Amino acid sequence: MNQLKSQPVKVLITGGAGFIGSHLTGHLLAQGQRVEVIDDLSTGSIANLEPYRDHAGFSYQVADMRDLPLLAEMVDRADVIYHLAAAVGVRLIVESPVKTIETNVGCTEAVLKLANKKGKKVIVASTSEVYGKNDQVPFAEDHDLVMGPTVKARWSYACSKAIDEFLALAYHKARRLPVVVVRLFNTVGPGQTGRYGMVLPNFVRQALGGKPITVYGDGTQSRCFSGVGEVVGCLSALAQCPEAVGEVVNVGSTQEISIMGLAELVKELTGSDSAIKLIPYEDAYEEGFEDMPRRIPEVSKLDRLVGFTPQMGISEIVQSVIDHYRKL
Ligand code: UDP
Repeated sequence: MNQLKSQPVKVLITGGAGFIGSHLTGHLLAQGQRVEVIDDLSTGSIANLEPYRDHAGFSYQVADMRDLPLLAEMVDRADVIYHLAAAVGVRLIVESPVKTIETNVGCTEAVLKLANKKGKKVIVASTSEVYGKNDQVPFAEDHDLVMGPTVKARWSYACSKAIDEFLALAYHKARRLPVVVVRLFNTVGPGQTGRYGMVLPNFVRQALGGKPITVYGDGTQSRCFSGVGEVVGCLSALAQCPEAVGEVVNVGSTQEISIMGLAELVKELTGSDSAIKLIPYEDAYEEGFEDMPRRIPEVSKLDRLVGFTPQMGISEIVQSVIDHYRKL
């Protein structure tokens, strides 16, 4: 991995009050970097930034990214921009499709345009959702993206992030803007809210509250979960890796677990008596909802670029989330 230069790097994190953004803030401050955050608190929370409020290298603006003069000033002050602001979570996407598309496409366009004026490096957060219905696991970065029809709202998320990727790569190709596109797989850990449908915080809250653990579909669908601490370590390493510029890189764990297996693990580690209840997809989301049966990343590119990949075991990850909820 490349080492940091001695002078403090100044970074801007869009969406820095979100789950991943706030962990990234802590990670970069601990490395001696200076961090500025812009977040409109639509899904993020100021409480996530509370631990860093008094840090000399930290500042934030609660603002809409459509405030272009403000965004331009913040981009100008930064050496590197981590663009994490996005509408995330399947529930939010199904419920607010206009906001999803406008936020995901508009904000990325604004950041890239402004960064391009001064040639600032941009790390663009994308998602494993872009692989869509591709069933050829593990997913490598050059695999086809297989989307569903536009009448199904859930695909608007994948398509909007795919547009973000195209735009970032176009800026790199046509304008030589240094960009890195990272496709984040399921990332979990302390501080993630279950409000937008994310499975692990939902299960932990349900188990600790003695409520039924709601497994959607038949529970045979699987995911690979990585701990947020390791994920933000990968993001910062990629930002410091010259060979990553112009690349799309998967960031995730390859440790697969079924959603039913996850429910059972949560039940076991919390010691909960909660029943595990199967909920049909159409009741959980919308009629005709299409889930992905498996989502496993190919991580050899990440490993080649930064020399490591997320390795934290699922039990340890789940335990860290349980500990977090027990402290609230
Ligand atoms: N899921 C579930 N119960 C919940 C929330 C989600 O069974 O309370 C399922 C969801 O249908 C999907 C998986 O868990 O199959 C992961 O969902 P999440 O929204 O966390 O992430 P995704 O991988 O869908 O982006």
